[in-house]
Amino acid sequence: MRSAKLLPLILVTVGAVMMPQKPAFGSHAPAKRIVVAASTLLDGKGRVLHGVRVVIQGAKIISVKPGAPDGASADYDLRGLTVLPGWIDAHVHITWSFGTDGKNAGQGGTTPEASYAAASNAYQTLLAGFTTVQSVGSLADITLRDAIAKDQLPGPRILTSAEPIMGRGEQTGTPEELRAFVRKQKAAGADLIKLFASGGMTRGTKTLSEEQLDAICDEAKKIGLRTLVHAFRDAVAAATLAGCTEVEHGLGASEDDLKLMAEKGIYLDPQAGLLLENYIENKTRFLAPPYYTEESFAAMKDLIPAHQEFLTRAAQVPGLKILYGTDAVAGMHGRNAEDFIHRVRDCGIEPMAAMVSANSLNAESLGLADQIGAVAPGHEADLIALDGDPLKDITAVRRVVFVMKGGIVYKDVVGGALRIPAKVQP
Ligand SMILES: [Zn+2]
Repeated sequence: MRSAKLLPLILVTVGAVMMPQKPAFGSHAPAKRIVVAASTLLDGKGRVLHGVRVVIQGAKIISVKPGAPDGASADYDLRGLTVLPGWIDAHVHITWSFGTDGKNAGQGGTTPEASYAAASNAYQTLLAGFTTVQSVGSLADITLRDAIAKDQLPGPRILTSAEPIMGRGEQTGTPEELRAFVRKQKAAGADLIKLFASGGMTRGTKTLSEEQLDAICDEAKKIGLRTLVHAFRDAVAAATLAGCTEVEHGLGASEDDLKLMAEKGIYLDPQAGLLLENYIENKTRFLAPPYYTEESFAAMKDLIPAHQEFLTRAAQVPGLKILYGTDAVAGMHGRNAEDFIHRVRDCGIEPMAAMVSANSLNAESLGLADQIGAVAPGHEADLIALDGDPLKDITAVRRVVFVMKGGIVYKDVVGGALRIPAKVQP
């Protein structure tokens, strides 16, 4: 597959001075006007528009008007495809990769190989149609985020938690110590706080007390950061009652817990199959006790239907906001869209709901509803096009043939050949 307008790859320098910084949104796009013609456009909020022109100036969408022009008056003629806002993945680990020995190298490596692998993960994710990701759990995310924001590397916008808080009961720290840790992450440049409030998928209960959870989520709120909580079973209700922003995974939460989340407006980010399939497929690469054991791998097979049953049940809870997050680890970067297929095929999620979860709903959960996740005037010009209609055939999400982020086109291929814009402006 060939791609247009690749930016030069530059080695990520991990370990540079960290400055608090918000994601810079597309400030480097040329200020010229671009017209995109679409015959079918999903607006990211649940509407389908037919025959429209999307006008872009610099990094922003300035209008979405009915009346698709003929191909000759559009810079990008995307008629015959399905156009939608760039997807958002609410949970990835962008720096996780397999090392030179083929084994899971985890996060935060600073070797040249690890840095290139992280840059490659970002590029693959962007080419797969994901223009923004929330990456949780590594300080190495910060330098990658900033390099992408400065257009030094092609990749999705990254929001990151920097270092996570690993729940270890009393040892995790006093409420005051935890508040200080939250402030330290903000000072290091974190966009949000990630915390582990329970053990793994198959074992363990709550690993943070109510007092600790309250301290973390309250301090984060006070300094303007969201909180993303890894939680199973009893930790789900605890995170909800502590007023945290988002629950990850959630397996084992009761009907009442899910209703409480809906009532309090806490987001749920479950996974529907890709994550566990990836672990199973790459078992020999991940196997490393004490976290990845033979025992935990044996349990994973049964956990796939358990997660799917959980998501099916969660989707029935009125008002519960279900996000799209894949938990992309090594082996998953660039395959983030596969979980859409699981959600629709295995969990009965409506295709439109699946698309909206990765567009406007995820944008809302990031506090960026007015900037990304919708095709609307004033929003970032993040557009992707699929060869096929995901509302009729969800596997169309595998066929991303066009990717624009902040007004810059990173991919424009049809049938494997480079598409030349119908009209190239000077
Ligand atoms: Zn994760």
